[in-house]
Amino acid sequence: MTRRATGKSAETRRSAASKKTRSRTVVSSRVSSCGSSLSHRREPPADTESPPDDSWLAWFCGRPGNEVFLVVDLAFIQDPFNLVDLADSVPRFGEALGVITGKKPTPHRLADTSLSASAEKLYGLVHRRFTLSERGLYLIYQKWKNRTYGECRRVFCPHQPLLPTGSTDTPSALHDTPSALHLYCPRCMDVYRPSHARHRAVDGTFFPPSLPHLFFMVYPRYRPELPQEEHVPRIFGFEIHPSAVPYQQRIADRKDRRKAKRESPDRISTDGKNPKMGIPK
Ligand SMILES: [Zn+2]
Repeated sequence: MTRRATGKSAETRRSAASKKTRSRTVVSSRVSSCGSSLSHRREPPADTESPPDDSWLAWFCGRPGNEVFLVVDLAFIQDPFNLVDLADSVPRFGEALGVITGKKPTPHRLADTSLSASAEKLYGLVHRRFTLSERGLYLIYQKWKNRTYGECRRVFCPHQPLLPTGSTDTPSALHDTPSALHLYCPRCMDVYRPSHARHRAVDGTFFPPSLPHLFFMVYPRYRPELPQEEHVPRIFGFEIHPSAVPYQQRIADRKDRRKAKRESPDRISTDGKNPKMGIPK
């Protein structure tokens, strides 16, 4: 969702971006705007040009494990409106922006690990915003349809494709603390860790927690039905009554307390015998 798409003047947007709460406002307005527009559209947004093979974008998104990332449109990255607040969060912001909009990194450039880390962090934070745009949600749909994020492992969610989601909306976490990438199942409405080890290394802060829920607000016809079955615990064919669980826990606690009393040194009298049980020391 770019400035042109919303139809507001550049000056108005720069003024709005100077407010302290501008980052949250930007994302929120982007969400509500694209939600209202996409819910009524009939055709998906037209594809834009893929990045050149020798670009940093193609190199980064082609690395093993990074297939979960969308290829953010270059125009989106270069739009200052979409970079509001990020300069304070990313070290060497200007250089990092030049990296992600430039060519594939050379070995010499990769040796500068701090700049590489800043470039990846900047891309991740821009990516987080891009996923909530009209174009971003459409690209998420393409990956979801191709099962890029895997399928739910729950027995009663057969072959249900998953959607990526983050675990936090806390601004400080966005900037300083990596978090795990979670995968949301729209059928059982629960979240899971990625089944592939290469996806567990992906920072979940680069995916907003709102993403799967906004996705189905925009694409309601793709929301699956809730599971019609659930697992019923049985022993020899008989259902386990719900009261059996606390009852079993009380029995286990009672046994633990008796065992602790028997083994306690305070229970041994001076003559070497347990006063209650009569067990020699
Ligand atoms: Zn599921």
